[in-house]
Amino acid sequence: MASQAYHGFASQQRESAAVEVVLVPAFADNYIYVLRDDASGKVGIVDPGDAAPVIAELDRRGWTPTHIFLTHHHNDHIGGVAELKARYRPTVIGARADAHRIPDLDVALGEGDRTVFGEQAVRVFAVPGHTSGHIAFWFEGADALFPGDTLFALGCGRLFEGTPEQMWDSLVQLRALSDPTRIYCGHEYTLSNARFAVTVDPENAALRARADEIAALRERGEPTIPSTIGVERRTNPFLRADDPAVQAAVGLPGATPERVFAEIRSRKDHFRG
Ligand SMILES: [Zn+2]
Repeated sequence: MASQAYHGFASQQRESAAVEVVLVPAFADNYIYVLRDDASGKVGIVDPGDAAPVIAELDRRGWTPTHIFLTHHHNDHIGGVAELKARYRPTVIGARADAHRIPDLDVALGEGDRTVFGEQAVRVFAVPGHTSGHIAFWFEGADALFPGDTLFALGCGRLFEGTPEQMWDSLVQLRALSDPTRIYCGHEYTLSNARFAVTVDPENAALRARADEIAALRERGEPTIPSTIGVERRTNPFLRADDPAVQAAVGLPGATPERVFAEIRSRKDHFRG
């Protein structure tokens, strides 16, 4: 699959804030992201589970990475780090809580920490649930969010190391970002997520329209990424566990959002669509 580049629309208002984001498909359905800060020319990589497709993309563009950003310790997100670090000597940035299980970490960050990538200010959110140490990176000026396996287009990550309460809190934190914030998540799961989403939010017209768009995109072999916070807030059932329509649709009217979220997550775990 060919990689595709998107220029942030933030660049139309603030030229210095632009980051080019290149999607690099890996394995069956992972996305690795290669970033280039327009102002400084610095190049970063997010979640390189595999080195080979990243090296091919960098070679093709003549780019040399200075930074690697890691959202969590799963091998399909860090498996290429050792080879990339040996080859390019980038600074590897990841979660302080995962320092014991992410080899090659240079900079360990946690909730509320900030770092810099070229001219970009980068803010870290602690988002436990999929894993206990999971973090997300928000590039403020470009308004681009890299949530790893916490938030997907129309979905969220499985709860391998966290509780529904933790994951709901993590998602609410990300949901609070502004509507135009672009979301670059760790996997292309959107089509199967859409098939599930309509079963728990059947009256949502925006969701139905989006499900049709997604089916058409995938039919053409195109990525469904990036999504935006605004689109997810309106259509992603995992962000809508406090919406009365969703609560009623899953048979839990008036229940707490945490309880409704847990029900939706459990149904998805058993969904065969
Ligand atoms: Zn994962």
